[in-house]
Amino acid sequence: MTVAVKDNICTKSMPTTCSSAMLRDFRSPFDATVVQLLNDSGATIIGKANCDEFGMGSLNVHSIHGPVVNPHQHPSSALDWPVRERRSAGGSSGGSAAAVAAGMCSAALATDTGGSVRLPASYCGVVGLKPSYGLISRRGIYDHLQRWGVVSFADSLDCVGIIGKDVISASQVLDVLSVFDERDPTAARPLTRERAQELCSEHMAEWASLPSGDFTKLRIGIPQEYFPVSLDSSIVSPFRRVVRALKDRGATVLPVSLPNTSYALSAYYVIASAEASSNLARYDGVQYGLRVPLPPDSVTKSPGEAYSHSRTAGFGAEVKRRILLGTYALTADAFDNYFLQAQRLRQCIRDDFMRVFRVPNPLARSATPNVAGVHVLLHPSAVRTAPFLDEQDGLDAYTQDVLTVPASLAGLPALSLPMAVDAGGDGWPLGVSVVGQWGCEKMILTVGSTIE
Ligand code: GLN
Repeated sequence: MTVAVKDNICTKSMPTTCSSAMLRDFRSPFDATVVQLLNDSGATIIGKANCDEFGMGSLNVHSIHGPVVNPHQHPSSALDWPVRERRSAGGSSGGSAAAVAAGMCSAALATDTGGSVRLPASYCGVVGLKPSYGLISRRGIYDHLQRWGVVSFADSLDCVGIIGKDVISASQVLDVLSVFDERDPTAARPLTRERAQELCSEHMAEWASLPSGDFTKLRIGIPQEYFPVSLDSSIVSPFRRVVRALKDRGATVLPVSLPNTSYALSAYYVIASAEASSNLARYDGVQYGLRVPLPPDSVTKSPGEAYSHSRTAGFGAEVKRRILLGTYALTADAFDNYFLQAQRLRQCIRDDFMRVFRVPNPLARSATPNVAGVHVLLHPSAVRTAPFLDEQDGLDAYTQDVLTVPASLAGLPALSLPMAVDAGGDGWPLGVSVVGQWGCEKMILTVGSTIE
């Protein structure tokens, strides 16, 4: 299998720049566990994929390598590059999704902190899987030297995700990567994995054991909060078609409510920025990252001045914005009102999901199954098709993640698949997402393969 690797995942044989001037010359002395696992299983790593700087962005426009142009060929247009529409491939893993969509490889490794696998997959018309938090190794800090496997953005949210040309390719890569890595401090323990698998299989047996294609016992929830006013109207009918096809096979489709969804975006941007500001503090131009010496005539020559000189040159505008936002949220004055509130909301969002799932949470001590609950949730992956590259405004990019961040905050697995688009739309790809209980990757992939 040919695989591309997002440029925030360490590779020994190729540079790892995180699309940042700060790491322009960085070469990792080791492969991330995920890369090593792929190599060991015989995959061919074809190259590193562009991304937003340190994974911060939704459109892959914040990169020292330039923006990623969506390779989708508009069906009604005979125009060839460079005349055809320049649309975003989505971010932050735009390069990974574009490489798969352009047929350069059958799968790509990427990271998903708040939607960076699912959003590009939706915009480029490929499959994107964000696994449960802690399932795939990020090989974090494993000794006093703080080496990385995957370069941290926001540790409590970061997941390695997979982009594939179809559900089978994504599942094959997942099988190789989904192993316990004792060097990753946030990896789910083997017992937790076993328990999750048992619960998932037990609940899949309720419907997947019937003759193939018969979904009479499958219960699917449609979260009513996932249809915000910003949702483009052209998404509704392709989504309805997906629902109808599942109903035709016997699935029970129910409306469900996740009432705290509207707070997810604000909570996410506070938490992710706070963690990023702390993580990125290590790039001081002394221990890590680009070093830009102070001019010889500089007056103070204090260490602070030297750090800020290197950091000013090394980080791009979006990363600086996040560092400022996150540092502010962590200051004594703002901590209670921003960071703590965001953590409380995160818990409410997690509780919302746990209330609607039929499969109990394998991470909880005592878990009673919810017989009235649903096996999986289904919703559009994004509020629109790929935006044009040339008309971007900052906050608009943040709102692209509105449908992907809740599953990230709750650490749940989510799969985005392309939907068949109709003539009423603009001819660009759209994704539909299947979200499941923690550890229920097999379940969402099985449901996904029937939608595909
Ligand atoms: N777009 C989100 C952000 O900029 C998510 C990024 C990601 O998942 N890496 O934070």
